[in-house]
Order: sequence, then structure tokens, then C-alpha cells
Amino acid sequence: MSCLFCRIAGGEVPATIVHETETTLAFRDIQPKAPVHVLLIPREHVPDAVDLGGDRLGDLFAAAKEVAEAEGVAESGYRLLFNTGPDSGQEVFHAHLHLLGGRRL
Ligand code: 5GP
Repeated sequence: MSCLFCRIAGGEVPATIVHETETTLAFRDIQPKAPVHVLLIPREHVPDAVDLGGDRLGDLFAAAKEVAEAEGVAESGYRLLFNTGPDSGQEVFHAHLHLLGGRRL
């Protein structure tokens, strides 16, 4: 298994997991761009966010809401974003939702 985020989901690569469900995993970004920087991924390998089905997308957003509340940024606000494709700066080709907050972005 060569996909980094599949290896994190499989427990082969350590990560600081902050939330998990049957379909979704959330862990801290290794190079945070904000005081709160969490990556939310589907457990199954989907390379691009635009190929996530509605159910998986809904699961990611539901998990993001819970993470935002647990991280204390639900009230102050936060940014959710997907990078898709090389020009966006996407580095890991396993769909992931960035949750950034904890400072004015
Ligand atoms: P992308 O640029 O693909 O949207 O975002 C990939 C993110 O994964 C980057 O913000 C990067 O810091 C993070 N990342 C890369 N390698 C690792 C790792 O091994 N562990 C964790 N937790 N995050 C990683």
C-alpha cells in the first residue's frame, strides 16, 4: 500500500488522530498552517475530492463539524478546503478536507 493516507488509516504510519468514525478519519496535519489544522479523510481510497460520493462527502462534513466543536473553533470560525490536482498544490492524492482555524485567516 503506497498511499500515505491509506497507511495512516491502516495504522501503519503514526498520526495524531482527533476523531474517527466507520467511514472517516481526522488527524492533525504534520505541518500545520494554523493553530488548528486537521485533515479529514475517507477511510477508503478516493484520489480526488470531486470523486467522493455524496454520502462520503456528507460524512466528511459531519465529522468536520464535530472536530470544529471539539477543537474550540466552532464559534470563532474556520476554513474548510479541498485541493484538487497539481495546480492547486495537492501533494497527497487521497481526498482530504483541510480544517484550519484558531487564528484570523
Ligand atoms: P495537500 O497539499 O495534498 O492538500 O495537503 C497534504 C497535507 O498533508 C499537507 O498539509 C501536509 O502537511 C500533510 N502531510 C503530509 N505528510 C503528512 C504526514 O505524514 N502526516 C500528517 N499528519 N500530515 C502530512
